[in-house]
Amino acid sequence: MTEHEELVKAREAERQAALEDIAKECIAEVRAWSVAHPQAKWDELEEAVLQARQRFGERLLQAVVEERAEVRPVPGPPCAQCGTEMHYKGPKSRYVVSSLGETQLERGYYYCPQCKVGVFPPR
Ligand SMILES: [Zn+2]
Repeated sequence: MTEHEELVKAREAERQAALEDIAKECIAEVRAWSVAHPQAKWDELEEAVLQARQRFGERLLQAVVEERAEVRPVPGPPCAQCGTEMHYKGPKSRYVVSSLGETQLERGYYYCPQCKVGVFPPR
């Protein structure tokens, strides 16, 4: 294996571990809550699990989008209005409301120098 391949592999293992840590945190939170609330009713327990699931969903979505953002297209996508190649302007923060919840995402931002418009290209 080349040095580069080893780096890629180590990075991948690191990302996987980071996501597993998020899952473990959510599981630990629910279990700690359960221990702290021995008299909790079914719907309260359900609510605690739903909240943990919500947090995990948001963080998983954010992590996956960030991974994808690192693999940005080179060259930039063509402008929808004039066809000029758009310039990469770096990551920008964007507030997203999805079926998994509301979250703040960093996404690659592109700008057309002709039309002076920017986009977050879909992937
Ligand atoms: Zn344009």
